[in-house]
Amino acid sequence: MFRVVPLLSKRKEYMRKPLIAGNWKMYKTINEAIALANGLKRELLDFDKADIVICPPFTCLSEVYEVIMESEIKLGAQNLCWEKEGAYTGEISPLMLKDSGCEFVIIGHSERRKYFLESNELINKKIKAALVVGLSPICCVGETLEEREAGKTIEIIKNQLEGCLKGFAIEDMLGMVVAYEPVWAIGTGKNATALQAQEVHKFIRNWLAENFSSGFADNVRILYGGSVKPANIKDLMKEADVDGALVGGASLEVSSFTQIVKNAI
Ligand code: PEP
Repeated sequence: MFRVVPLLSKRKEYMRKPLIAGNWKMYKTINEAIALANGLKRELLDFDKADIVICPPFTCLSEVYEVIMESEIKLGAQNLCWEKEGAYTGEISPLMLKDSGCEFVIIGHSERRKYFLESNELINKKIKAALVVGLSPICCVGETLEEREAGKTIEIIKNQLEGCLKGFAIEDMLGMVVAYEPVWAIGTGKNATALQAQEVHKFIRNWLAENFSSGFADNVRILYGGSVKPANIKDLMKEADVDGALVGGASLEVSSFTQIVKNAI
């Protein structure tokens, strides 16, 4: 299921391979995307100490895949429809993503929750649809600033996990990834401290252990997202339950994303 790599840090027995994912959001034309993918391929061609995933817009998935297919870089999408196919104008099915070369898909990003009113229930359906075709969902959870200031962070995360992962059995969740993305840290330049991230990541792992199994929880990669930069990734990665990052703005440049990947190890 998950690749076990040699012991390098305190993630002892259940060594989780770090994962750094770039969320390109609604940036990059096809030519720009090809240029960025070529730059990343040049810098990270044989880099295998972390899984590297890039998530371009739908319009350039196939072109980007053509560039990275013979490298260690993997492809992800930013969203998908919960249905297999049908009269759903404007939507993209899980199979279409697989067909374009995707192995991962971001689901439930806070921007989708906010602007497209995605609920935990809908996210649950999308995760299920992804898993059925063998796509690894990167399920995003995170609290707003108001919720954090009201002391409700853990309550909110618990609620999101309960809703998003409702009804799954362990064997359904092969390749599942969780991303903790505090909404107040996304695109603001204000990242959570390593300790703030670790506190929530640990809660998430414990929740997974209680609701599924400790073996499962030990193998799930939990990413931190929110203003990750080359300068802060090292500290975040020192935490026992931070297994990587979901990177927005800093994934749009070859140099910053490459530096994040290299500094993460
Ligand atoms: C994101 O879009 O998931 C994200 C974390 O963005 P940024 O790194 O720009 O805060």
